[in-house]
Amino acid sequence: MSLWRRKKRRRERETPKDDGVIGMDVNKWTYENLYGWGREQLLSAAVPDAGVDARLLLEWCCKTDRNTLLAHGEREISAKEELEYQQAVARRMDRVPLQYIVGEQEFMGLTFEVNKDVLIPRQDTEVLVEEVLRELHDGMHVLDLCTGSGCILLSLLHYSNDCTGVGADISPEALQTARRNAGRILQKSAEEKEPQAVFRMSDLFLGIPAEEKFDIIVSNPPYIRTDVIDTLMPEVKDYEPLSALDGREDGLFFLQKIVSQAGEWLYGGGMLYLEIGYDQGEAVRRLMEAEGYDQVEILKDYAGNDRVAKGVKRI
Ligand code: GLN
Repeated sequence: MSLWRRKKRRRERETPKDDGVIGMDVNKWTYENLYGWGREQLLSAAVPDAGVDARLLLEWCCKTDRNTLLAHGEREISAKEELEYQQAVARRMDRVPLQYIVGEQEFMGLTFEVNKDVLIPRQDTEVLVEEVLRELHDGMHVLDLCTGSGCILLSLLHYSNDCTGVGADISPEALQTARRNAGRILQKSAEEKEPQAVFRMSDLFLGIPAEEKFDIIVSNPPYIRTDVIDTLMPEVKDYEPLSALDGREDGLFFLQKIVSQAGEWLYGGGMLYLEIGYDQGEAVRRLMEAEGYDQVEILKDYAGNDRVAKGVKRI
């Protein structure tokens, strides 16, 4: 008998028979007690935010929302929902990120598909997108390197007019996810129009034609030092794609390559925007200034850490 069934049996035994509710079926799980069970399980596995995750997984399994769960705590759960919840909680106890279990993550107010092939979009990255949006004008052409789920490029295109973009990534699986996200996020264009976003397999700039120029190049490349990866949360180090995180020995491997090559693909006066690590601001500023970028600025995230580097390609 599974642990789940044993627990259920024990609950049945422990439930007083003379509780005065005639005809109440004490064997049934309700939203409320199933949530309680899930929370307890997650707490026992030291999962951070156990209560929130127990609730979000229950909402997902029962295709419901927070208000319904709260208002109808006594609603009974079907056997299928119960099984799904049991499996989802077990995966979360193994520290699989919640977003990979439910298959989605919100970013810039949009819902992106995520899976093990792509980094889960982070709130910090919204700072980067918002910064680009300040300079993104109608009709611009944008390159997003290391596009992953496509969250940066697709948010930019969603919140602008008549812009077009290229999302590049070395991972074919990530590109498939990004293309599905484009289908979700972007308006279907009329037959004769070029697609607003194209996704290309490319190791940084290697697959980008030399004659294609961009108004803006943006990237959230892997920038974590290799020796730091092991210290990250299990959700990150055991489940997110290592190739999306690992910036090699000093964390600057990809940032440095992008800074030194981007100029060839930017129009004069075009802008480069990069997400960087909290301790990489000065190093990236020096790299950009050495490569001849003007107006180099390092901007902070909501936590007050250096997070974005930007600069203008000299004309
Ligand atoms: N561009 C994606 C993001 O910001 C993926 C970044 C990456 O894989 N390093 O979430």
